[in-house]
Amino acid sequence: MKRILLTLLSFTLIFSAANAQKIKGLCATKLGKYFEDRHTKVDTTAGRGMIDNYYLWPVGALLTVKFLPGGSSQIRNEVMTYAKEWEKYANIKIKFVPDNTPKTNVRIKLTDNDGAWSLLGTQCNYEDQTMQTMNLDTIGFRTKDDFPYWRATVIHEFGHTLGFMHEQSYPGGIKWDTAAVYGYYLKYTNWDRDMINAQVLKVSDEFYSNGTAYDSKSIMQYWVAKDFTLDKVEIPANYNLSAGDISLAAAMYPKTGKRFNEVPTVNVSSLTNVKVEPNKARGGLVITPSFTLKSNSKLGLLYLVARVVRDDDHYVEATTDQYNWGGWVATYKDILVLPNSNITYNKPGAKKNLELFIPYEQIPLENNANVRIEFFIKLADGLNKKYKDIGFKTYTQLVAINK
Ligand SMILES: [Zn+2]
Repeated sequence: MKRILLTLLSFTLIFSAANAQKIKGLCATKLGKYFEDRHTKVDTTAGRGMIDNYYLWPVGALLTVKFLPGGSSQIRNEVMTYAKEWEKYANIKIKFVPDNTPKTNVRIKLTDNDGAWSLLGTQCNYEDQTMQTMNLDTIGFRTKDDFPYWRATVIHEFGHTLGFMHEQSYPGGIKWDTAAVYGYYLKYTNWDRDMINAQVLKVSDEFYSNGTAYDSKSIMQYWVAKDFTLDKVEIPANYNLSAGDISLAAAMYPKTGKRFNEVPTVNVSSLTNVKVEPNKARGGLVITPSFTLKSNSKLGLLYLVARVVRDDDHYVEATTDQYNWGGWVATYKDILVLPNSNITYNKPGAKKNLELFIPYEQIPLENNANVRIEFFIKLADGLNKKYKDIGFKTYTQLVAINK
């Protein structure tokens, strides 16, 4: 039976290429052969990168950014300067605010470990305010022998913050020698195969290519050793925004006119709680989530899903198709969200306007069993015929089934 993790693992953590680079300091001789000719010129095709349209900030958005405790003013100044590189091309404002600002979109932790990573685009909004949305390892990446790579790393991570994906996820972009890739990353990083699949080998949906071509010059492209590819093409580390990065930034965050390829997006906020009540009279669990939904200019179809989780963190196998999400006992409601909507469900003190219900007869557990509800929202992506996780998930307290 599937075990779930009651954490925020639903977020897409995007790690930097430079996790491999980081090891350079630790195992320089072993890595030497990969790095000695990293400036080799390679054949490139004109292109402009990959972005996840569903996690884009609104055009012209002001992103507030703060540092979590730590980091010298020198290093902080470097980060602030490098991040601003995006503002030249994208219609977005990156505003660094004082450390004691209670609420921000982006939070950076300057560390001496944990690599370089960022949450993807608006997924930052769903992270707890006490947690970082970006990690920058200032020992592994800010080295004297390759200081420009530090700048490139900061720009790369802010690319993720704006919704840019790893360029190597472009369909057909790289002809991987998967055995060589696993061999390298298993040896030199603490990543397992799942992580390697997600960070290096994953090929994204065609739709996110936005009609663009693969761009090996993108700052979002990992360094690739020639031994990693079947055709022995090496991709050196990129140090600057490519022409493709610049044109994609301008297409998705245009300074004038409309965004290219707008998709429906929703923003969930003011989530106060999701309540679950065992209701003996009605013979089931009554679930009342409370939150505000805001949509952009496109019509969107949302699924609000409430799934049963046992007290040992397992889902419960569904016995019917009706109360079933992914094979597990759940209920859901679909909601058509009109363009530019701003709707609050179950506002505290106001009349109840949203409820989900799961009859006990659908939950094959004994009376008094403790369960909680996993609540999440999916966006139906008609174009790709799948459900898009909008990065939002929460869990209720445990309650006892009371038949
Ligand atoms: Zn990355």
